[in-house]
Amino acid sequence: MTRTVSGIDIPPVPDGARGPKVPPRGYLVEEIAGGVHWVTDGGYQCAFVVGEDEVIAIDAPPSFGGFVTRAIRDVTSKPITHVVYSHYHGDHIGATDQFSADAVRIGQEETYGLLKELDDPMRRPPTVTFRDSYRLDVGGQVLELHYKGNNHAPGNIFIHMPQHRVLMLVDVIYPGWVPFANIAMSKHIPGFMAHHDHALAFEFDTMITGHLTRLGTRRDVETQREYMHDIRDAAQHALELTPAKRDLARDSVGLDHVYTYFSTMYDAAAAEAARPVIEKWAGRLGGVENFAVNHTFIMYQSLRLDDNARPNVVFFPPTDSSDDCAHDH
Ligand SMILES: [Zn+2]
Repeated sequence: MTRTVSGIDIPPVPDGARGPKVPPRGYLVEEIAGGVHWVTDGGYQCAFVVGEDEVIAIDAPPSFGGFVTRAIRDVTSKPITHVVYSHYHGDHIGATDQFSADAVRIGQEETYGLLKELDDPMRRPPTVTFRDSYRLDVGGQVLELHYKGNNHAPGNIFIHMPQHRVLMLVDVIYPGWVPFANIAMSKHIPGFMAHHDHALAFEFDTMITGHLTRLGTRRDVETQREYMHDIRDAAQHALELTPAKRDLARDSVGLDHVYTYFSTMYDAAAAEAARPVIEKWAGRLGGVENFAVNHTFIMYQSLRLDDNARPNVVFFPPTDSSDDCAHDH
């Protein structure tokens, strides 16, 4: 049942959106398989892999900062010789300065370019870069890094550990939950959509996703793909609703304040089109009540700007009729 706290409705957390309890010390560290570990504070996730004589760290979010080294030291005293960056964002690699300056840092070449430009002492640029793929084979552990194009961020990669059937992809899949706002703040929506299929093409049982409450599975990727296709259908519907909402906006707020006019039209179309998505997914994916309208709006804009089958919707109405022959501004 939805609770109301301080006037704000809080929908129930679906059972599938719950994860393991994080101990009071502030982080949980667990072995997934064969030396591959994940670390979480209940909101962020990173990983490390223990080899014969070394440790390969993957990301270090500032949200639990120095706890990453502590979590590694809970498990092993071997040196941290390699650091893999999932992508350039500070909320995932902004605490990688805790690792030795001598450690080999590996990232995709877009990540290198962005970190070079941003010049953040907490995020040293990678010392080893690659364009499409890179195989790290050290201490009996194999990490295959693959870049499949822009998605959540340029340079955001798959980190596959084929021996253990573990796949890491950060900020794309949200097990038990819908993606974060603005379709996971994606820089490229078509690439974000394609990453569901790219993920399923890898052999894996367990996925480390960088966020939220628990690890993921193939089923979580399939579920999110279904949700995102529902959002795409809703966005298509929102485009079809646009002529009616355009006239509604013109008649209610007028055209003088053009941003008020646009936001009235967009909000009405997205809210109506997202309604069946919310009905279908409420209780199944956490956060659909929070973000489905926003996701529909973002997808609507992507269909308009990115899609090859761009709809020719007239966004600016004539003042005296709802005739679709009006000029398209
Ligand atoms: Zn990110």
